[in-house]
Amino acid sequence: MSLLFADEPSAVEIVNESGAGDAVLLCDHASPRLPRRLGDLGLSEAQRLEHIGWDIGAAAVARHLSAAIDAPLVLTGYSRLAIDCNRPRGVPTSIPEVTGGVRVPGNEGLDAEARLARESALFEPYHGAITRLLDRRRAAGRRSVVLAIHSFTPDLGAPRPWNIGITYGRDRRLAGAFIETLERRFPDLCVGDNLPYAVTDSGDYAMPVYGEGRGLLHVLIEMRQDGVGNEAGQARWAERLTACWRDIAASLEAVEAGRISS
Ligand SMILES: [Zn+2]
Repeated sequence: MSLLFADEPSAVEIVNESGAGDAVLLCDHASPRLPRRLGDLGLSEAQRLEHIGWDIGAAAVARHLSAAIDAPLVLTGYSRLAIDCNRPRGVPTSIPEVTGGVRVPGNEGLDAEARLARESALFEPYHGAITRLLDRRRAAGRRSVVLAIHSFTPDLGAPRPWNIGITYGRDRRLAGAFIETLERRFPDLCVGDNLPYAVTDSGDYAMPVYGEGRGLLHVLIEMRQDGVGNEAGQARWAERLTACWRDIAASLEAVEAGRISS
């Protein structure tokens, strides 16, 4: 029995699949939707629509950016509360029993079958689509630069000063170019260098697997949610990222030749 009913939305959406640009956009936390079979996981609607359920504003910015830079965009169809598509399968934060200090009753004490149902219905279709897209582009001799679009909550215990965080793991090449370009173009913004989070193997999936694993230039972009909570903010961030990407795309060979940080 599949987790999703036949009339429910797909676990993955691909926008502008044949986009001609060098960038490939990912949105791992695009939607707060839960599969009907999971009910509400024991959470209120307000909780599910909070940052624990999805990345507020991220999908809207990613859609604007996809159109502006002619990049394919792959988005999740369901909430990270059902399964977090930016975590390796099996880690405690994959299907979180507690997230952002909130208990998730519907995720407590799941057996192997219940975990597998979420992985096969939600995680695998999303990552299968990304894998096929990157494989097709590689087979066609195309470059792919992976940009993951996320947003973060402005206050997690303490206020977070960064308007945007540019984050990475072992390979800072593209992140360094983004930080430099953002600071040059928008000197009034506070840009986090691997803040508020760094990319890690257990706390991330797309960057280690598609970026580092395939040797593709990559970066994970985190926008503060109060900047992307409405359409005007989403459009403004899409414009800023478009401008930065165009600067960087003009010198990708130099970025690729950059030193890989350890
Ligand atoms: Zn996210």
